[in-house]
Amino acid sequence: MTPKIAEFLRVQQPATPCLVLDVDRMEDNYRAITRALPLARVYYAVKANPARPILDRLVKLGSSFDAASFEEIRACLESGAAPSAISYGNTVKKVSAIRAAHAAGVSMFAFDSAEELEKLAENAPGARVYCRIMVANEGADWPLSRKFGTSVESARELMSRAADMGLDPYGLSFHVGSQQTSTASYEAAIGKVGMLFTDLKDAGINVRMVNLGGGFPIRYRDEVPGIDDFGAAIMHAMIACFGNALPEMLIEPGRSVVGNAGLVNAEVVLVSRREKDDPVRWVYLDIGRFGGLAETEGESIKYEIATPHDGTAMGPVALAGPTCDGADILYEKSNYRLPLALKSGDVVQIRSTGAYVTTYASQAFNGFAPLAEHYI
Ligand SMILES: *Cc1c(COP(=O)(O)O)cnc(C)c1O
Repeated sequence: MTPKIAEFLRVQQPATPCLVLDVDRMEDNYRAITRALPLARVYYAVKANPARPILDRLVKLGSSFDAASFEEIRACLESGAAPSAISYGNTVKKVSAIRAAHAAGVSMFAFDSAEELEKLAENAPGARVYCRIMVANEGADWPLSRKFGTSVESARELMSRAADMGLDPYGLSFHVGSQQTSTASYEAAIGKVGMLFTDLKDAGINVRMVNLGGGFPIRYRDEVPGIDDFGAAIMHAMIACFGNALPEMLIEPGRSVVGNAGLVNAEVVLVSRREKDDPVRWVYLDIGRFGGLAETEGESIKYEIATPHDGTAMGPVALAGPTCDGADILYEKSNYRLPLALKSGDVVQIRSTGAYVTTYASQAFNGFAPLAEHYI
């Protein structure tokens, strides 16, 4: 919790549940990332948190943007981003959205299939395109990769065809999975993509960029390597692969920019025991899976929870949301423990919820309003 957030909660006592995010803390994160990888251009992954105050601040800081839809592109433009600073990074795009992006001056597009490449050639002629390669996602708490990317062999063929189709075969990309806790996953991916890059160059294709994606982890319940460790591992692998002839480097951090800049303030609705002598208490909060905590699916992301009774005796709990849906359970198997004094009406903080929370909130399921947001 930053001093600014603590002060806001104390003075404003906002209605729960709500996200409170310190935009200055987000700026600190952004700066730390650019310091760790000074040779890479940062394309903030808008989906992590597309709120206006975040995009406005990032435009001021000179960030570029990775957008997944025309709506996200429009949000970036409205915050003052130049079209040239926006990458349309989704490999699955509607034709109408490709056309709208192209008309708005966006000139950089991702693809991972022949079919998408054809759509780009027809609807965004001359655009810079980059091919997403499938890489291992081991070590990621929130993997992505089975849905996206293609093999090295097919990327080789598609990148040659891109040039023949009047597109600019600009580069290659990968994503090692979100909340990736292993630096080795980037090293392995760079090795794989680097070899293809060299082959393409040797074949006379004017490929110039490697997009390393996002995935950089933040601390939830468990310690993770810092951004400097990832920066060092990445640069080591890049130099091993390319020597002095480094290509343009892009990164697309989302979680590591905004995640720990915000918290959710929530109220305990009920503390109960299934049976009188059950050691495990069920703690129901006024936010759950449908209120925005979707990354608790499979108990993948394990948020830290602070209570007014921290430092007193603890006992085991299961945590759940307030809806009448059986899937609305946050943690049952992850050995959460909370103070025995915790009771209905207490206000708790769910830490590091600045990324992938607000936009996952449902529309009035069971009558619960989407998560309120305060950017300070
Ligand atoms: C989601 C996503 C990101 C951001 O990932 P983080 O793990 O939040 O850093 C970056 N690039 C692409 C293509 C994505 O889909």
